[in-house]
Amino acid sequence: QAKLAGKSQYHLFDMEQDQAIRGQLETIERIRVALTAEELCLHYQPKVNMKSGEVIGMEALIRWQHPLEGLLSPARFLPLIEDDPLNIEVGDWVLQQAMAQCAHWHAQGLSLVVSINVSALQIQQSDFVEKLATLLQAYPTLPAHRLELEILETSTLNDISQTSRVIRQCRALGVKVAIDDFGTGYSSLTYLKRLPADTLKIDQSFVKELRADSDNLAIVEGIMGLAKAFQREVIAEGVETTEQGQLLLSLDCQQAQGYAIARPMPADQVPGWISQWHPPSSWLAQPLSSSH
Ligand code: C2E
Ligand code: MG
Ligand code: MG
Ligand code: MG
Repeated sequence: QAKLAGKSQYHLFDMEQDQAIRGQLETIERIRVALTAEELCLHYQPKVNMKSGEVIGMEALIRWQHPLEGLLSPARFLPLIEDDPLNIEVGDWVLQQAMAQCAHWHAQGLSLVVSINVSALQIQQSDFVEKLATLLQAYPTLPAHRLELEILETSTLNDISQTSRVIRQCRALGVKVAIDDFGTGYSSLTYLKRLPADTLKIDQSFVKELRADSDNLAIVEGIMGLAKAFQREVIAEGVETTEQGQLLLSLDCQQAQGYAIARPMPADQVPGWISQWHPPSSWLAQPLSSSH
């Protein structure tokens, strides 16, 4: 009898798991429909120089305008397609869409670098760079340096030699490369040497808890030192308060992104936002440390 009970329990578990898998498949199918039904869209979040007030660029961030559930953040659907072929289709769409937007702004006289997040699966594809090159050819008047790819530090860890090859090839096309969420991936010095990216993007977790006496201050300082030694640019993400911006400026980190500057917005709001934005006076007044 114990055996029987065990068996039926197994069946129950089996069925539940089966349903969970089916549910997930249905959702992946639903994302596919969203792509073809044009329910996916990109919002753009500014990147600025806090000291000069210059608007450097815009990061494209995907959203799903769900007919019933409203605007969904990428955390709600991207993890589901992390390892699915649909990831590549969505990634292709993002590349195409963001590049078209970048070309449009360029034609309007807005010199912005548009940053595009690329997934680990995307950069593992042998034809990734080729696709990028083909897309660039479709916009002959758009300088390649107006585009930047953001690669998560954690996804560079999968295959460091493949990633560094992709980064080199992208940069050979003139496209910029940033390492996103930098500091979260156990990066070593030798490892950074093998990642020829232009920019290190300091993860927001270090910025969030930035205090004059915190360990995070030391971490950011360390990243600034690394960047200087390896001649990389640095940008801080997740700057939510003026004070965080000031602390970053005191460490000579001038480029930033975050709610203190602007939230992600639809593309059509970008020109208006640029024309009215100015940095808080405390950022402009901040003397830069002379040690760097
Ligand atoms: P990420 O690339 O590190 O982008 C930063 C995330 O932090 C964005 O969330 C942004 O809206 C949010 N953020 C910006 N400033 C602040 C701030 O001051 N405070 C706080 N608390 N959050 C801030 P979002 O748009 O939900 O995107 C989450 C992640 O999803 C992104 O992190 C990126 O890894 C991924 N993602 C977004 N769009 C795409 C895409 O088109 N393709 C791929 N592969 N990944 C994407
Ligand atoms: Mg990013
Ligand atoms: Mg990030
Ligand atoms: Mg992130």
